[in-house]
Amino acid sequence: MPFVPAIVYVALGTNLGDRHAHLDAAFAALAALPGTRLLARSSRYETAPLGPAGQQDYLNAAAELETTLEPRALLDACLTIEQTRGRIRAERWGPRTLDLDILLHGNTTSQDPHLTLPHPAMLNRAFVLAPLCDLAPELQIVGRTLAQHLALLDQSGVRRLPAA
Ligand code: AMP
Repeated sequence: MPFVPAIVYVALGTNLGDRHAHLDAAFAALAALPGTRLLARSSRYETAPLGPAGQQDYLNAAAELETTLEPRALLDACLTIEQTRGRIRAERWGPRTLDLDILLHGNTTSQDPHLTLPHPAMLNRAFVLAPLCDLAPELQIVGRTLAQHLALLDQSGVRRLPAA
């Protein structure tokens, strides 16, 4: 039986090469996944990098999808999309052409390290929550709305870009 459609939020990040082109390609690839509709895309945000010094700033964004893909199948699809943009996994938190993280997949919860849901770091990172709040500011998680979670964070390194 096919999986019941779920509303899913995916975080997109890039800080190598043509960053806007990587985001354009990622949105297009997510929209083209089987059983999937791209419902909305966030603004793009330029954000200061975590991790090793000397990296370019990131562009971050978020996508809202409706999909019949189960979480694991969607994760595999995201890893394939990352690879088609030439992502090389070298150092932890190092620069990357494209990083896709599944933030929320309907009401699914999972403690599996290969796919943890909700994404364990999403509430601590303004560069994830700011784009996500463009899409679902009133969504409740762990006793607060996403907008309330964002308001608790330092947003000084996060700058919304004007629409292109
Ligand atoms: P990174 O791309 O460095 O953020 O880490 C990618 C790895 O994190 C993937 O190989 C996944 O198996 C694992 N992972 C665990 N939870 C998630 C999630 N919610 N979304 C994406 N990757 C996840």
